[in-house]
Amino acid sequence: MLFEDLSLSNSIQRAVHEEGYTSPTPIQEKAIPHILAGKDLVGCAQTGTGKTAAFAIPIIHNLHRIVGSSKKTKQIRCLVVTPTRELAVQIGESFDTYGKYTNLRQLTIFGGVSQVPQVDQLKKGVDILIATPGRLLDLHKQGFVDFDHLHFLVLDESDLMLDMGFINDVRKIVKLVPTNRQTLLFSATMPMAIRELADTFLNKPEYVSVTPVSSTAEIIEQQIYFVDKTDKRGLLYHLIRNENLSNVLVFVRTKHGADNVVKALKKHGVNAEAIHGDKSQTARQRVLDHFKNKEISVLVATDIAARGIDIESLPYVINFDLPNIPETYVHRIGRTGRAGNGGISISFCSKDEEPYWKDIMKLIKVNVKTIKDHPFPWKDEEPNPDAKPDLRNKKKPEGKNNSRKSEASKKNKKRWY
Ligand code: AMP
Repeated sequence: MLFEDLSLSNSIQRAVHEEGYTSPTPIQEKAIPHILAGKDLVGCAQTGTGKTAAFAIPIIHNLHRIVGSSKKTKQIRCLVVTPTRELAVQIGESFDTYGKYTNLRQLTIFGGVSQVPQVDQLKKGVDILIATPGRLLDLHKQGFVDFDHLHFLVLDESDLMLDMGFINDVRKIVKLVPTNRQTLLFSATMPMAIRELADTFLNKPEYVSVTPVSSTAEIIEQQIYFVDKTDKRGLLYHLIRNENLSNVLVFVRTKHGADNVVKALKKHGVNAEAIHGDKSQTARQRVLDHFKNKEISVLVATDIAARGIDIESLPYVINFDLPNIPETYVHRIGRTGRAGNGGISISFCSKDEEPYWKDIMKLIKVNVKTIKDHPFPWKDEEPNPDAKPDLRNKKKPEGKNNSRKSEASKKNKKRWY
């Protein structure tokens, strides 16, 4: 299928063409016709699949027809609710890109920064409003946001909104907008709670979904290191130093964990910074900019903070902690190997994370290379006459290998603890 086959207005075709897009991505191919036909839609798709354009393009097409050439005062016709500032900014940029040959005006609002410029823009009038939930409700309460003319409501990254505790805010927002709207709900995963939300907020929705698993796996070299929890920081530093890694995105499970990893790396002269929800929006953006222009070499992030970060050609992704949701693994490693460039994903698996790794293997169904030659193997891999054979270490010359490792392990441990 080509974009020409979607009967989109010339102004959008031109903008899409200039972006170098020829064919719609699978989520676009599936979602755009339903949205153009006025249907409510639930889209199961992750960042990286082209899902922003999947809703932005048909919305721009419809709004351009309705209000594009009219001289009427601008009123909010489309509201996109998304959980983080980074996502809001990226969605705003997409609307700018695809709508550049229309005169639709869009505005992105989020918390953590002064509301004054946002209010000024709202007063001038906008057609499309992209917002994080807290700031949106805040400005609505102050009377700066009027939903009377709203036609489109988009709930983006709904599972993340649920995870981040925004769901009550989302419920409030849905109550504020007209009932005769067209609602689009996007989510990277479809847990029961999201299905229930879709049933409550949407009217006979169409369901479309895409899984990006196999498309990324082929160009990403995936490696796994079995390492004790307490040795993970040592192993991370060892890899960064010995393999001379830079431009590395490291995923951790908690904000506290992110700060600890950064502290440990900095102590050893590695230029690292953390990005997570406890940091102010301005600080997050600053860190991200420094990482993008390579002023810092290691970015340590929680999943929530990393969602939506679009960094081109990221060579390394390290799963310092394994995610408990296997789809999150796919999502994380999709940060490398973008746009056809190869990339390496490195995962650390401690004993207690083994069940997570098994779930991931079940989902991705590809062979991941186990890196056995490193200084921090699981400690109970030491020779044990009662132990059952372990397939992972089957080929190793036992005594020699293990003693070398424990020596190296001791040496590295000294440096770290
Ligand atoms: P998203 O999933 O919305 O974060 O989009 C991921 C990336 O795919 C963005 O950098 C878009 O510019 C790009 N993209 C979206 N649609 C297409 C398309 N049809 N062809 C090529 N690239 C696209």
